[in-house]
Amino acid sequence: MPIVYLTEDPSVRASCPPLKPRQQEVSKAYFAKREEKAQYKTIIKDHVTAKGETLSKIANKYKVSVKDVKRTKNTKYLQVGETVKVTIKEKKGVEVKFVKLNKATIGEDVYIIVETKHLEEETVLINILQGQEDVLAKKDAPLTVQQDSQEVTKIQEKVGNYCKEEEVSNKDDFKDWAIVKVKLQPKTAADQKAWNNGLECAGTKKAMLFLLVDVHSENSISNFKSEYILYKGYKKEKDDSTIPNHFLNEEGTWFEVTNSKTIHIYHDGTISKVDLKNAEKVSYVYNAENDKEYNICTCDLLEIDERLKGVSDDKKIEHEVKVGFDKNKTVVYDHDSSRKKYTYSDGTIRTYGKFYNPDKKTNYRLVTYKKGSNKKFIVKMPSSLNKNIGDNSISFSFTRTARRYCGPEHLACFIGALAEVGYSIKSGGACEEDGTSYPSISHINGQSVDTSYLDDIMEQKFINAMHKFGFLSQLRGSGKKVFSHTSDGGKLHNNHLHSGGLSPNYK
Ligand SMILES: [Zn+2]
Repeated sequence: MPIVYLTEDPSVRASCPPLKPRQQEVSKAYFAKREEKAQYKTIIKDHVTAKGETLSKIANKYKVSVKDVKRTKNTKYLQVGETVKVTIKEKKGVEVKFVKLNKATIGEDVYIIVETKHLEEETVLINILQGQEDVLAKKDAPLTVQQDSQEVTKIQEKVGNYCKEEEVSNKDDFKDWAIVKVKLQPKTAADQKAWNNGLECAGTKKAMLFLLVDVHSENSISNFKSEYILYKGYKKEKDDSTIPNHFLNEEGTWFEVTNSKTIHIYHDGTISKVDLKNAEKVSYVYNAENDKEYNICTCDLLEIDERLKGVSDDKKIEHEVKVGFDKNKTVVYDHDSSRKKYTYSDGTIRTYGKFYNPDKKTNYRLVTYKKGSNKKFIVKMPSSLNKNIGDNSISFSFTRTARRYCGPEHLACFIGALAEVGYSIKSGGACEEDGTSYPSISHINGQSVDTSYLDDIMEQKFINAMHKFGFLSQLRGSGKKVFSHTSDGGKLHNNHLHSGGLSPNYK
């Protein structure tokens, strides 16, 4: 009897790939924030020139710059009836991106993202679970949060349902995702209080959260069973279930929820005294005369090594920067390429750059900031503010400065003064993220704020308002009017008011 051997023919194999099953999958689940970028399209419009029109008038009419208006005739002057081509940028929606978020504070809006495969139109059920210890709920129990102002414990969303109505240019990126926005807070005052108590009692002052994801709706179109779905999460310890559908934000990382601390600012010049220990954010609330409360902003809180008062060295010529700094930590500034920052092994920071000192007529300054032995809190100031508070407003923006951090109470008192006057103030800020404050030697740890001058009458009102909120040491330029509450700060202060020496009035 002949023996038949079966061997594989490699050519057959290559031309006929094995069938791949459509493996339904829940790949990832995590918390995120939404970021968006406006998208523009360019259109070119023909405009027929009317009598009396110039290129700049036409540019004005279409709200474009003159270079976006192109003539079509070769004559010396623009002619009546001449067609000009106007290039217009039109907004055509936004591009959306979700960035993973590992931390948030109570009351914040966050997104939950569930990334799936082959689960189009299926409903995803999500629980936010309390991990590690009892804090916002019992350990492993689901949290009640808000979705569209409704309380929810079991959160539901269809895969691919996100931004259907919206003008989002990259909708396809999310067709396999279930995306929900939730507010991390229960609805009733009693429940909110329970959350706050839970955080207060927790050793870490944090709640570690994770997600439980299920995809087995009864009306499922494909009639699948959940065990056919590949969940790429993990199984909880001592869990009877065999399904690995618990998800940490990313491997080894819980989603952390903390409490934000609130500093209240009162119209009478006082602020509330708040212990910022263990906080990650600070919220600012303005209390107006009519007892109305206005949420102004929430800022990141940083605990930094204290900086000692800087020592400056002004010269006409460029300095030679001494050796010994950590080359990897050298910073060149975005807003001023001549400026560099050097860090030394003992924690000393030196900043050097072009800086004209009108009192000494020098062009370069080097400031050495030594590290102190204490810790200081600073907050990241909002990049600008423009908030209506009744008939008045709180409004400021920055000049070209890297000093966008400030002491937490300094910001509160600055906001109080802004509310008092209602003017739009330009600020040179207070300090940088590391507590240094080049070119100033005295703004260290964000303890003073610079502002550009207004006209003399408005300026005096603003100085009074800063004084009322406890800035007791204000410097004016030697060429300026002798404003009350100020002392002479030399020519250096001819272009800005310096407000320091804060001694807040506590409620
Ligand atoms: Zn200053």
